[in-house]
Amino acid sequence: MVFDFQSFDAAFPWFFAGVAFLGGAMVGSFLNVVIYRVPQGKSIVSPGSHCACGRPIAWHDNIPILSWFLLRGKARCCGRPYSIRYAFVETLTGLVFLACWLTYPPVIAVAGMILLALLIAATFIDLDHMIIPDSITIWGTVAGVLISGLVPSLHGYSTEPLYLLGSIRAAFYAMIGVMIGSGLILWIGLLAEAVLRKEAMGFGDVKLMGLIGAFLGWQGAIFTVFGGAIVGTLWFVVAMLVGKLTGNKNQAALRAETPEGEETDLAMGAQVPFGPMLAIAAAIYLLGGREVLAPYLEQVMAIW
Ligand SMILES: [Zn+2]
Repeated sequence: MVFDFQSFDAAFPWFFAGVAFLGGAMVGSFLNVVIYRVPQGKSIVSPGSHCACGRPIAWHDNIPILSWFLLRGKARCCGRPYSIRYAFVETLTGLVFLACWLTYPPVIAVAGMILLALLIAATFIDLDHMIIPDSITIWGTVAGVLISGLVPSLHGYSTEPLYLLGSIRAAFYAMIGVMIGSGLILWIGLLAEAVLRKEAMGFGDVKLMGLIGAFLGWQGAIFTVFGGAIVGTLWFVVAMLVGKLTGNKNQAALRAETPEGEETDLAMGAQVPFGPMLAIAAAIYLLGGREVLAPYLEQVMAIW
């Protein structure tokens, strides 16, 4: 008997959704390692999971999401406190993997999950260090073009009548996405620098937009740049309100301090990096924005 995916999925509709969530939580656990080790130039495979005190963490203390709560955020070996962010990253990855699974056919869903994992790693490394490593952006972009060639349906290309033809078209479309994504944000940054007469944008964002363009195409890239600006505006408004309510102006107000201690006005990447906002906008596009936008985009394209 051959395993029939479709009839199994119909009989147990929540089985694969559950697998997507749990798999996402496990990937999130791995992303925590990536987020911690990659900026330090350490290997992400060896040594295995170990506590900051150097002792290895047993598998039963390393269960995604659950272990943090079972251990109440403290290491079993030495009682050292661990941030709830570890459990948050695992839960977040599980939820976006689940949403991706429910939005797309299986093969496209897996391609989308790879993008989401890269975006989550980039987001938290950027929040911690104000950089996005090339190993994520540049190699993620290369992976995005290759995956596009393997899964032409990611960009809506048919594999009929010839798979290779669909592959070439999808990979080419992905490369256009890289160029438009990177080019658009590069030029916005260059213009902002010319107007503001100071550094306005990190090159990490230019490379991140290449990655996003490879997976989401040029329409997704354009959505992400402008969506990222909107997310950033909301971010600052919420941060400012929270700052006002808690009375901590310096932390959240528009006039933030740079890590060097010099006071700046609202410049992208001054205190809060732009990468996470781009990542949020890209995730919104992947997990529903594309669908909402498609009919409008068709009308715009018809006018052209
Ligand atoms: Zn320890």
